[in-house]
Amino acid sequence: MQVSLHLSQTLSYVLKECALLSTCMPVVSLGQQARGSRKPANCSLRFVLQHVSAEEKALQAKWVELAHDQALKSEAAGGIPIGSVLVHQPTRKVIAAGHNQRMQKNSNILHGEMDCFENAGRTYEGGPIPWRETVCITTLSPCLMCTGAILMYGIPAVIIAEHDNYLSPGEELLASKGVKVTVVNNHKCIQTMSSWIKEHPQLWHEDVAGNVNGARV
Ligand SMILES: [Zn+2]
Repeated sequence: MQVSLHLSQTLSYVLKECALLSTCMPVVSLGQQARGSRKPANCSLRFVLQHVSAEEKALQAKWVELAHDQALKSEAAGGIPIGSVLVHQPTRKVIAAGHNQRMQKNSNILHGEMDCFENAGRTYEGGPIPWRETVCITTLSPCLMCTGAILMYGIPAVIIAEHDNYLSPGEELLASKGVKVTVVNNHKCIQTMSSWIKEHPQLWHEDVAGNVNGARV
């Protein structure tokens, strides 16, 4: 079932209602993000309710949990709690995991997804990384840099734990390029990130949160 809606204030409500449907998973494509805001204004929301098996949902939940573990690992080391996992879809094996390393390595590049891709290395089980058979799981909406890497390597699917704390224009870009974008609204990830942002507003605004106005999208 595919539904087209125009909403502004009721996005979270709609997603929560969708999540209540035990066999359906909302796949969200969002309209233009408000400049300077983490929330969409004049939101053009298109979502597809697709059947997701109980086994698939359990696997997705497990991968999100692994990504969240990475986020906590980063936070424990004094870093930003954003984590990511790369999974080989045919075998369901985890290829790599990583987390934001801005603080730990004084890096402008190693966001959660980028660190995960870096940790994957160049090869997997004797061959090149099978990027086109992978899914990237990330605890937070992927920024434009990470979106670029996802598109460059041809990763066909992204599972986003949450975009309450940061809604990247990358989501719309990914969807427009045919990447399957799934937002699961994981409450643990929302809580971990929102608590950290409250405690470290300056650090948060050093990076993507402070660059929304300057991003060329
Ligand atoms: Zn990023």
